[in-house]
Amino acid sequence: MGFIVGIDGPAGSGKGTVTKKVANKLGLINIDTGITYRCVALKVLNQKISLKDIEKIIEVAKNAKIYIDNTPNGDNVYLDGKNVTKDIRSKEVTKIVSQVSSIKEVRFIMVDMQRKLAEGKNVIMEGRDICTYVFPNADVKIYLDANIEERAKRRYKENQEKNINMTYEEVYENIRKRDENDKSKEIGALKVAEDSIIIDTTSLNIDEVVDKIIDIITLKKAKL
Ligand code: C5P
Repeated sequence: MGFIVGIDGPAGSGKGTVTKKVANKLGLINIDTGITYRCVALKVLNQKISLKDIEKIIEVAKNAKIYIDNTPNGDNVYLDGKNVTKDIRSKEVTKIVSQVSSIKEVRFIMVDMQRKLAEGKNVIMEGRDICTYVFPNADVKIYLDANIEERAKRRYKENQEKNINMTYEEVYENIRKRDENDKSKEIGALKVAEDSIIIDTTSLNIDEVVDKIIDIITLKKAKL
């Protein structure tokens, strides 16, 4: 069994950026589980499947061949052999991903994939349900949070850098809806695990959060 760090939290809490930095500094494999749900959502859009057609969406999830190439500069994502790194971050995917990921069977398939990706490795895995459901026995459990205004501001800025065209109001509304939906899922809902350490990142910069997490991991490793 490898060493597992789980990082949960809502959109814009800094999970993605922080996790990559911690992974690079500590030599951990970074797994962004949101990618797996985004790939299913992209396939649903490409195949023009209705969000009501649950059976077809489950079929899509079963057949999706997702490959994540972890590089120090970020992840390159391949879906059925095609590079979809940019496509999975589109406004359209972001709009439906939470709904797609609410389907129980889709979650079972993706969680199975996520656990296999981590098998025997030292990983830092980020998502919504890592510490509560995917790896309830993770060695380190962290929940990152920030107020919604700050999270929307961060995501808006990030989108601009990536040329994703969304107004601040659109980003805010999308995050608000996703929060609501992600928190009310039957399985894998976004919530704080009993033994997670909560870090409120609202007034912290990225490096401050990274340092805090590295301290927590180092302390835990020293106790092993
Ligand atoms: O992290 P990211 O914003 O890319 O995740 C996209 C969506 O995928 C989330 O809004 C959530 O609905 C879903 N997700 C999930 N469980 C995870 C990771 C992501 O349900 N572990």
